[in-house]
Amino acid sequence: MKYRLILMLWVVFAIEINAQNDESVFIKEIFDNALTNQYAYNNLEHLCKFAPGRLVGSENSLLAVEYMKQYFENLDVDSVYLQEFTTPVWKCDSSSVFILSSADKPIMLHCDALGPSPSSQSEGITAEVIEVKSLAELEKLGREVVSGKIVFFNRKWDHTFVRTFEGYGNAVDQRSRGPEKAAEYGAVAVIIRSVTNSMDHFPHTGNTHFTDKKIPAVAIGTLDADLLSEHLIKDSKAKVRVFVDAEEIPEAKTYNLIAEFKGKEKPEEIIVIGSHIDTWFNTQGAHDDGAGVVMTSDVLRIFKELEIENKRTIRVVIYMDEELYQSGGKAYAKYVKGAGEKHYLALESDGGAFTPSMFTVDGSVENVRGIARFLEYLEPYGIDKIKAGWGGVDIGPLKEMKVPLMSYGTDSQRYFDLHHSANDTFDKINLRELQLGSGCITSIIYLIDKYGIE
Ligand SMILES: [Zn+2]
Repeated sequence: MKYRLILMLWVVFAIEINAQNDESVFIKEIFDNALTNQYAYNNLEHLCKFAPGRLVGSENSLLAVEYMKQYFENLDVDSVYLQEFTTPVWKCDSSSVFILSSADKPIMLHCDALGPSPSSQSEGITAEVIEVKSLAELEKLGREVVSGKIVFFNRKWDHTFVRTFEGYGNAVDQRSRGPEKAAEYGAVAVIIRSVTNSMDHFPHTGNTHFTDKKIPAVAIGTLDADLLSEHLIKDSKAKVRVFVDAEEIPEAKTYNLIAEFKGKEKPEEIIVIGSHIDTWFNTQGAHDDGAGVVMTSDVLRIFKELEIENKRTIRVVIYMDEELYQSGGKAYAKYVKGAGEKHYLALESDGGAFTPSMFTVDGSVENVRGIARFLEYLEPYGIDKIKAGWGGVDIGPLKEMKVPLMSYGTDSQRYFDLHHSANDTFDKINLRELQLGSGCITSIIYLIDKYGIE
């Protein structure tokens, strides 16, 4: 009896090991395909070279969507269509910042407007500058000191954060809330130190939140910020001229792009994967987030080439407007709610295409556990963690409908050198890292679809 039980246990164990081996062999096939094809890389090159600066409302944003639509049509997916919605749009034609000094010639600083900064008058805004390191410091100075001045937020990036997304989180309030706060105290314009860990002349733009009163707001490069700060130590009364030529239009038509393979067993259960195609006006947006677009789009190609019989519907959504108003993600969630669709899971990639590192899951404990059990299949390809964490900006609105969210994460050390700046160009993309990204995302989606996440 005892021997029979041992034998039975051994058989069960052997079957399980075999199933795992089979799956590992198939995951290798997925990676073999990803690592020997350049579709994602070629698509990204096209987006970067032929549709840079694809901010929502721009002609290039539509060219980019059209290009990816063509790609899905050529793939012969089950359906591909545009999802129309309206959103405010903003464009910036030019901006400049000069230190005006009685002793020297005007000194030009490298700058880009924050979105959606209003225009200055055509001759620019000239005023004295108040340098602060935080919103709290601004508050302490109060209206009496700040009114009529240009506020210069110059808190440096804290290099002690090992994870750069945490460093970013620690510094970004100067950009996201600084201009609004300064306007409240009567400032006439705002200059921020770019939110980046690198020391160079690249301005890094980004969005800023205004309520009622809007004032022109620009980012300057970190070396430029040091220069301005040093100048203010020498001459605290030095004036600066800020010029912005920009326009906000309250309503315009734009589109998300949707492509999918219908599920063979449970077509009504949708696994949605995607990334944002828009970029800031000053950049090719190679890592942020052209890379996410082409890696998530590559999932459908690999599914097709390997003839994967997906149980659930696998849908790619290419979101418009993550950067400025996050209107694409909101429009998509509104559609899902209205149509009463059931979303099984949503994955977003918006952390660049560097060496694969992890998947994070924003869902129940069971969801995290259910997805983390696939780690063993992905460890050989560089994924060393699957843990609870961040979902994504575009998929964020789906959380209200209790959809488990997840995010693809890569080595973050170089991401903020490039983020939202003219430095985020196609030559910063490493072919192998991008291909590994396609392989990682395809594999996790394949495993989730096949085995579920409960
Ligand atoms: Zn992004």
